[in-house]
Amino acid sequence: MGHKLGIIGYGTMGSWHAANVRDRISDLDVALVYDINEEKIKKAQAEGFTTCGSAQEIYESDVDIVLIATPNDFHKDYSIAALNAGKNVVCEKPACMTVVELEEVIAASKRNGKIYTVHQNRRWDIDYDIARNILKQNLVGKPHQIYSRLYSNRNIPGDWRTIKSSGGGFLYDWGVHMIDQVLWMVDSKPVSVYAQLHHIYQTEVDDAIRVNINFENGVCAHIVADSWTFVNESRWHISGNDGTARIDNWFGRTGKIIKANVKKVDWTQGCVYTHNGLSRSMWPRPESEVEEIPLPISEKEPRWEEFYENLMATIEGKATQIVTHDEVRASLRVIEAAFESAEKCAVVKL
Ligand code: NAD
Repeated sequence: MGHKLGIIGYGTMGSWHAANVRDRISDLDVALVYDINEEKIKKAQAEGFTTCGSAQEIYESDVDIVLIATPNDFHKDYSIAALNAGKNVVCEKPACMTVVELEEVIAASKRNGKIYTVHQNRRWDIDYDIARNILKQNLVGKPHQIYSRLYSNRNIPGDWRTIKSSGGGFLYDWGVHMIDQVLWMVDSKPVSVYAQLHHIYQTEVDDAIRVNINFENGVCAHIVADSWTFVNESRWHISGNDGTARIDNWFGRTGKIIKANVKKVDWTQGCVYTHNGLSRSMWPRPESEVEEIPLPISEKEPRWEEFYENLMATIEGKATQIVTHDEVRASLRVIEAAFESAEKCAVVKL
């Protein structure tokens, strides 16, 4: 039997889900769409979808999955209402504004015996798949630094994303993806967070972020998302005790891994002389001591379709949820810690 999707919020992302579910997901039909804005309802109709005049109509219909793609401050209430109506829920990220809100939603999911999951779609990005492969395949040895960076230069779309009470800002927007990715790739517990949130052009919300997450095993992840940068650094930079990896951008196919074949350092080899001094430690290794290996691009590209396929299989009792409650809670906890750290200018223990 096929599944039916009801969508609440037909903006940029709600309409993206509608088109992509229709075009890419078998056994799932977009049955009903609701948006508070009449213009969006007309747009959904023009794009071939059946609409309704309230979220209640979705709850009372035969849809079995509800997608919530509204501004962030509505996520909690819609999630709980849909779960209480006996629907399975996919909520757009960030799941909620706080961990306390999220606990209410998780409780509603458990109470009603319905699936609640969050659309962490960036787990299927090709650059991320390669970054994970680098660690899984031990290509740089024991990692100590992971840099995950994203840059844009248009600042923040001037809508609810600029309003604090709506859940605007870069930390909730991009931070949540990047934190989820890092937590899911490092095989250790996050123990502390230090963050800086900038206000380059936004007064209410952050528009550039740096979040450092320290893990129990000694790995430090540096997450940077900056909405006002005109010269970019690489998307990923991973250092380990065997070498260093760089993935250039989020299309993921370019970059390099350099491994140190000779670990012992010959300090008599040379010295770099600069205008104002000299350094032996900055003298680069000769080519004979290092080796370039290709990026570990998976034979099969990651498929975003797996998100909905896994959800339907989980509803049918044939699989377990990919994006779990514990994972969503862990990344939201880091976000809360990042807000607190930035405010106090202090390291926050998790
Ligand atoms: P948007 O402003 O383009 O769309 C939001 C829509 O919700 C609008 O059509 C608006 O009319 C509607 N809306 C507002 N209040 C509502 C209410 N109370 N009830 C019903 N509809 C309501 O925003 P967006 O970019 O589509 O973002 C929506 C959600 O999707 C956010 O949570 C955002 O973080 C998330 N998002 C996720 C990704 C991703 O890649 N996973 C990308 C973009 C946005």
